[in-house]
Amino acid sequence: MVDLIVVHGISLPPGEFGGPWIDRLFTGCLPADAHPYFRGIVASRVSAHALILRTGEIVQYVPFERRAWHAGPSQYGGRSSCNDFSIGIELEGTDDRPYADAQYERLAALIEALLVSYPALSRDRIAGHSEIAPGRKTDPGPAFDWARLRGLLAGKG
Ligand SMILES: [Zn+2]
Repeated sequence: MVDLIVVHGISLPPGEFGGPWIDRLFTGCLPADAHPYFRGIVASRVSAHALILRTGEIVQYVPFERRAWHAGPSQYGGRSSCNDFSIGIELEGTDDRPYADAQYERLAALIEALLVSYPALSRDRIAGHSEIAPGRKTDPGPAFDWARLRGLLAGKG
């Protein structure tokens, strides 16, 4: 049963926005030779339920009721392997540059829709990747404004 939402940040190559590479990664066709950084990650089996681009556009890769490979070794509330019980939402971004206004708006709207569809989810069960994989992952990073997200969610009742 899905009862956790995990928020991520990703950019490919790191620090660059707007390219096709995140999409290529999540569809399993990232070309290893397009950038030196890609060689290290092409073999990894990763996916996410949804990606929110800087423009606010949402791309869904995995149905919400199916498992996506976004969390890796992880733990939340005493349970490990968060992929088994969480929905992973990626934001195009970096740890240290402000996320776009449109991304907060769309993320809040998406979460609101998920809360309706999956009653076990809750506003209190939203974690950053860094929170479920401390020491290994840092995203979505200090740049992500949790208070802002919570404010948007609260505002929608
Ligand atoms: Zn992540």
